[in-house]
Amino acid sequence: MLNEFVYCPRLFYYEQVEGIFVESADTERGSAIHERVDRGKGALPPQARKKRKSEVKGAAVEVSEVSMESVSETEETDLADLKTHRPEASADGGETIHSRSAMLSSERLGVVAKMDLIEVKMAGRSEGDLFGRYEAQSVTPVDYKVGAPRRSTEGNELWDADRMQLGLQILILRDNGYACDEGVIYYRATKQRVRLIMTPEIERWIVGKIEEARALTLSPEIPPPLVNSPKCVRCSLAPVCLPDETRMLGHDSAWESKRGAATEPSGSTRSTANEAPRRLIATRDEERALYLNTQGYRVGLKPERLIIHDGESLVDEVRLIDVSHVALFGNVQISTQAVRELCEQEIPVAYFSLGGWFYGLTRGHGLKNVHTRIQQFTAAGNPVRCLEVAQSIVRAKIRNHRTMLMRLHTEAPTPTIVGLKEIAARVSDARGLDELLGMEGAAAALYFQQFAGLIKVGGDEEDDEIPGLESVPEADARRHTAAAKEFTFDFTRRRRRPPTDPVNALLSLSYSLLAKDCTIAAFAVGFDPYVGFYHQPRHGRPALALDLMEEFRPLVAESAVLTAINNRMITPSHFVRAGNAVNLSPIGRKAFFHAYEQRMNSLITHPIFDYKVSYRRVIELQARLLAKWLTGEIPEYVPMTTR
Ligand code: SF4
Repeated sequence: MLNEFVYCPRLFYYEQVEGIFVESADTERGSAIHERVDRGKGALPPQARKKRKSEVKGAAVEVSEVSMESVSETEETDLADLKTHRPEASADGGETIHSRSAMLSSERLGVVAKMDLIEVKMAGRSEGDLFGRYEAQSVTPVDYKVGAPRRSTEGNELWDADRMQLGLQILILRDNGYACDEGVIYYRATKQRVRLIMTPEIERWIVGKIEEARALTLSPEIPPPLVNSPKCVRCSLAPVCLPDETRMLGHDSAWESKRGAATEPSGSTRSTANEAPRRLIATRDEERALYLNTQGYRVGLKPERLIIHDGESLVDEVRLIDVSHVALFGNVQISTQAVRELCEQEIPVAYFSLGGWFYGLTRGHGLKNVHTRIQQFTAAGNPVRCLEVAQSIVRAKIRNHRTMLMRLHTEAPTPTIVGLKEIAARVSDARGLDELLGMEGAAAALYFQQFAGLIKVGGDEEDDEIPGLESVPEADARRHTAAAKEFTFDFTRRRRRPPTDPVNALLSLSYSLLAKDCTIAAFAVGFDPYVGFYHQPRHGRPALALDLMEEFRPLVAESAVLTAINNRMITPSHFVRAGNAVNLSPIGRKAFFHAYEQRMNSLITHPIFDYKVSYRRVIELQARLLAKWLTGEIPEYVPMTTR
């Protein structure tokens, strides 16, 4: 951890204070190397008796206790082995043994270190030792690193973070009474050893860094991101940290002009090439959502796979590494073993009614940090801050609605476009959430009055012939033709509970799926999704997820509905009626899941950061920006608006 402090204090803060750790290819490679060297039992022979008597007089018991504590994770036999182990002669004529995975601590420094490998030069059997014990004359810690050493005109050098780690090991060994003047790092990429000779200057530097790191753990403020550092490119926490985005929207004066444009109502200026943040996050997830809506399916677990059965027949097997989350609709059963494994692997399971009502989510312990939630609860109790962020969210939603109409409507009526613009401009004048709610309602009424103009679908009679649609069994064809006559995509107004026509049924399902994705994003960032700023807490309502989804309703949920209808992915034959309510059939739901996921995974150029990312990524990005606004890293929450 202390080497991470030297690498980047912000990284140290994330890991040590907030408990956030993200694996990357580099960290996994490093773990694999350490796993191999960690196979040792951690025992270390005692220090040379002469040294202990002269240097730690009267403290022999204490030293011995530290040593015993240092091998507390090892089996009793480890020490016994060492006590009688005869060292091998090394090439230089001395006798050397290797101790792996020794855990030692220093009370003076207040630190603990697990050391990959310690080369121990043996002093030979002590006279008068009835047990024939060998003692360490001097020790040299050896650590393994994946990369290459730092090149300088003087030759190969240690990186500062490596110097910190190795130097600490030397000091800890010394504090435990061992003679240790140097250490070695072995860099695997170049297969080279680089030596560190301990000096008083290095010791002072290390002790100073320990004090700085300790002070940081008590600070409520996370250090700022590094500036244009190449370290960020390889940092596994870059998607959490968002170094360039935070600087751009935050208090960094170098980004002042861009920040003004980003938060400006028109939001019309793009980053130029040299001022655009680097894209340090993946454009889209490689994992996919697993939707299951066939009633009676059972989800079980096999090693590293989910298995899906219908009765006795195996329907599918899905590798866990390919799954981002699981969404279960209606009576789909899942075994305890599968849920436990999904929790373990941080893969959320979302539960819906058959009609698409989002009940909730199961997930593992995940994020352990509480700072974001403390800030969230504090802000949620502050009406001024709630209104501030609610205004941003509502303004963005109205703007996105207006853009949708201008882009997609066959002939968007000018009064509607002007009306939406005027309401968006008045949002800042709202004196409270109720007034804001009224404005949002007025804007939504204007928008939904014109929603029918976004639906561009022709005669239904051709729909079943569209290639790529879910195949309709021959036997059902007549019934579906009748259904097609009963259901149309005529839209008059938004009807929620229950939806009474196909478009409203699709909208309701789409909003439910979006609420699920915003809940997952809220959890991923460390929020409590049930405490919102605009949406007030109500039992069972993921209020923060609903806040987050406002700006994405047009961009994701309504767009997915329009794509599904206009591209004939969904046809009237995909609906069933139950009383007044209209619902999708299982085949229709499956087709809509496909349309929705297509939208979530489609790439857009981010209007502020100017790099390409999927909508799923943008939702998480927005959740992280919201967290940064709460912690004061950025002065205001900048919502996602499309041009
Ligand atoms: S991305 Fe850069 S600034 Fe952020 S934690 Fe990693 S190294 Fe530090």
